[in-house]
Amino acid sequence: MTWQEREEQAAADLGMTQKQYRVLRMRTWPWWIVGSGRQVRTRLFKRQHGLCPLPYHQNSRLNGPCGDKDHVDHIRPRKEFVVEDLPILEAIKACWDDKNLQLVHQDCHKRKTKEQRNKLSIAQPR
Ligand SMILES: [Zn+2]
Repeated sequence: MTWQEREEQAAADLGMTQKQYRVLRMRTWPWWIVGSGRQVRTRLFKRQHGLCPLPYHQNSRLNGPCGDKDHVDHIRPRKEFVVEDLPILEAIKACWDDKNLQLVHQDCHKRKTKEQRNKLSIAQPR
């Protein structure tokens, strides 16, 4: 069985199209790979020296890895990995790799998401 056939089978078992299946898998926090939300936020907070990397302000401090005031942002959006021609596990690993994640302010995250939706200037990763 190829990976496409396996994914088609998994999707069919859940009564979903393959696209719906991939969207669901990409949306699920892969705790078995990356750890809990708090663990990921702690790693990113340390790597970024506690600063929000988005360009809406200069070197503004984040709230911290505890609680959910700061958001984990995907530098390359998840929806791009849904259509990527990769087996689902490879797509999840690439999408949720620490290199594709950054910790940002909640408000900055909303603003970036809105701009991406409007196809305006997209915040570039560092
Ligand atoms: Zn910010």
